[in-house]
Amino acid sequence: MPEKIKTTCPYCGVGCGIITSKDSTGRITIKGDPDHPANFGRLCSKGTALAETLDLEGRLLEPMVDGTIVDWSEALDTVADRFRNIIDQHGPNAVAFYVSGQLLTEDYYVANKLMKGFIGSGNIDTNSRLCMSSAVAAYKRAFGSDTVPCEYEDIEHAELIVITGSNTAWCHPVIYQRIVKAKKENPALRIVVIDPRATATRDIADLHLPLKPGSDSYLFNGLLSYLESHGCRNRGFTDNHCEGLDDALVAARKTASNITDVARVCELDPEDVRDFYDCFASTEKSLTLYSQGINQSSSGTDKANAIINCHLITGRIGRQGMGPFSITGQPNAMGGREVGGLANQLAAHMDIENASHHALVSEFWNAPDLCTGAGLKAVDLFRAVEDGSVKAVWIMATNPVVSMPDADRVREALKGCELVVVSDTSANTDTVDLAHIRLPALGWGEKDGTVTNSERRISRQRKFLKAPGAARADWWIINEVARRMGFESAFDYQSPAEIFSEYATLTGYQNNGSRDLDISGLADLDADSYDNLAPLQWPRKKEDDDSDRIFSDGRFFTAGGKARFIPVDPQLPAYPVSETQPFILNSGRVRDHWHTMTRTGKSPRLGSHTEEPYAEIHPEDASRLNLQENDLVELNTELGNAIVRTRLSTGQRKGSLFAPFHWSDQNSAAARIDALVNPVTDPFSGQPESKHAPVGIRPWRAQWYGFLLSRRELDLKGCGYWSKARGNSIWRYHIAGNQSPADWEDLARQWVCSDQDNVEWVEYADSTRNQYRAARIVDDELESCLYVGATKSLPDHDWIEPIFLNGRVQDHERIALLSGRPLQEGQDQGPTVCACFGVGSNQVKELINSGEITSVEQITERLKAGGNCGSCLPELKQLLASGLPSQSAA
Ligand code: SF4
Repeated sequence: MPEKIKTTCPYCGVGCGIITSKDSTGRITIKGDPDHPANFGRLCSKGTALAETLDLEGRLLEPMVDGTIVDWSEALDTVADRFRNIIDQHGPNAVAFYVSGQLLTEDYYVANKLMKGFIGSGNIDTNSRLCMSSAVAAYKRAFGSDTVPCEYEDIEHAELIVITGSNTAWCHPVIYQRIVKAKKENPALRIVVIDPRATATRDIADLHLPLKPGSDSYLFNGLLSYLESHGCRNRGFTDNHCEGLDDALVAARKTASNITDVARVCELDPEDVRDFYDCFASTEKSLTLYSQGINQSSSGTDKANAIINCHLITGRIGRQGMGPFSITGQPNAMGGREVGGLANQLAAHMDIENASHHALVSEFWNAPDLCTGAGLKAVDLFRAVEDGSVKAVWIMATNPVVSMPDADRVREALKGCELVVVSDTSANTDTVDLAHIRLPALGWGEKDGTVTNSERRISRQRKFLKAPGAARADWWIINEVARRMGFESAFDYQSPAEIFSEYATLTGYQNNGSRDLDISGLADLDADSYDNLAPLQWPRKKEDDDSDRIFSDGRFFTAGGKARFIPVDPQLPAYPVSETQPFILNSGRVRDHWHTMTRTGKSPRLGSHTEEPYAEIHPEDASRLNLQENDLVELNTELGNAIVRTRLSTGQRKGSLFAPFHWSDQNSAAARIDALVNPVTDPFSGQPESKHAPVGIRPWRAQWYGFLLSRRELDLKGCGYWSKARGNSIWRYHIAGNQSPADWEDLARQWVCSDQDNVEWVEYADSTRNQYRAARIVDDELESCLYVGATKSLPDHDWIEPIFLNGRVQDHERIALLSGRPLQEGQDQGPTVCACFGVGSNQVKELINSGEITSVEQITERLKAGGNCGSCLPELKQLLASGLPSQSAA
């Protein structure tokens, strides 16, 4: 029997349960856990492809100091000594940690304890700052605590689901599928999608409000004032359990007193606004889901409070099927919040500025030097690195050179930093490449601990793979550095179970119901119980806690126990468009990639859905600029530029662009989208405005276009544009240049040649048409092949991949390679639509064109596409409607 281990998906905040099985050959299979309450067996395309990401290619497996491999003892001594020297000379605020929602709660706890408790600085912040810190700040302002008051089960009980600032279909696909199912089972369920773009999520909307980017607070202020004027105030609730309503209403009326004004500011149809307001007003069980479209804004906290205000005035909180529900992006953003991963919080949801919290944590940790003020939030932290006030930074499990706004400036700051330590699984990322000290960390499947998902559910991540090379758990690495810095007695952890137990104890320490986060019922778990811990939600004051739903008693964690309405004065984005930067750039994710692709980039299935970086543009804007589908364009701001493809979509608002932020210098010539994003932040949360960067767009004039398939990774010097994606046992490069080389063969040989025997080089050149094709065959097997032409219309290449896998290249295959034509009809599947079953758009198109099918269900029946995670169903629908291959994006 294969060995089966239950664990949790390492990607998004849905927190799906997974069962891994290892057969006798060591082959791993991944399935959704039918018993996990977050997903009941479902996984999306990313979760389903996890087994393809487990190889050791590109892994960092040994500690390195200043470019030399060393043993752990030397690496840890060096980190501790260099940190200690800088602290001794310049004080504790001269050092910082920048951590990640990829860390497990136990890792986070130890990192936070070291920095805030013993180094004595608040300078630990996390990449979750970029993702949901506005949601945290808003909850704290309204409830006095960072409490997510909803659960996934609410989806099945709601009568209205408002999805705002979230392409749930692509970014939280299992939640989306749950909503789809709820709608099927309850056709009366109304779904309103509020998003400037028509994304795949719009597919299930009864009403889509494509509001002007950044105008969300006007819309929700208008709703607040409408609810009041239409008698929807729940007086019992607001009188007894809330404060500040009058001021919030004054602010709302001042800016959004009537539907006409709201519709004008938000650039919406007044009837649609009325429809939304009526629907919300008349539906008791209203659930509002929101995510980065709300949070990633220079007024994200206000936007979230404008939403919360509408739930408070109607008393729609603390009961089943309703509430303001922030969906977190990262797998353990919530765990990080819980143990103080944000620079302005202490552990266990306590506040640095709160004297009794400070005294409590200081006493519990026996940490007299506990920091007395908040540390630097992400953007400020890297500014401090730049100006030299932070002289040492330890970056764990994240890639800020790609993901921070104004990313070029972050890169330059790190280049000038006295000490950069990086703990990572990858040997090369844009950030690891700048590190003085590289520490090999365990990856998913190798590490043990807990994560918390968007609905406050704690789940175990369990290891099912051996630690490779010298890689170690993050908590262990931090613990060992802390000991070497002289803090042995506070850092004597032997296992994640011990750390969890200490953290759980702290949550209950002098709590007595005064703090929302209490899992002290889990403090006494022994190692076995911790190992076997089933997914559970907090609070958990006793091991078998059956407390009522959070806030069901109308008691909140503010000083007076009442929820606070927050007056919202809506602000449009900080930087308006200009003559030179006339478009608004909205950055985000694609369906099948995660963050900077260090993991999803390993999967051929995931890579083939979106192989190249792109910007989505409305066809009318494109036509005005003389741009067509798949053109190369340069996006530019004063901060940086990027070269990407165009995708034309009527779902895009005119004047706006959307571009995914996944590409880095490891897999593209110039597509780090965050290099274009302004580092302007929300004043309360410090979260950057990643959804609104004014940019210019212009054609990138190429003289030639091509693709290159190769068994080996290549260094493509002389290519102005390239992007790299994983294929089956090969790398796929899309390339282009704005200058043709004097001799194609010379350049091609520079790119693909290595010192090997038995090399055969076959080529075809037509200089009049600027065409060049070449195949490099080593020991009779295809090693690489290159196609170049004067236009972007190149032959499809899916049919070439099997030739790499088939062994000896046959004569007819050589002819096909040089002619650029598939060996047989139907060998080119086209871009992947269904990543779970590897179904391409050409296959779907062929089936549709056959006239044999009329529904998406029939496509699933015939090709399986859409029959697993369902993430591709909106695209299948679109293909069916248009009869054309889909190029839509999220
Ligand atoms: Fe993982 Fe997908 Fe579930 Fe998110 S929705 S946790 S990415 S399987």
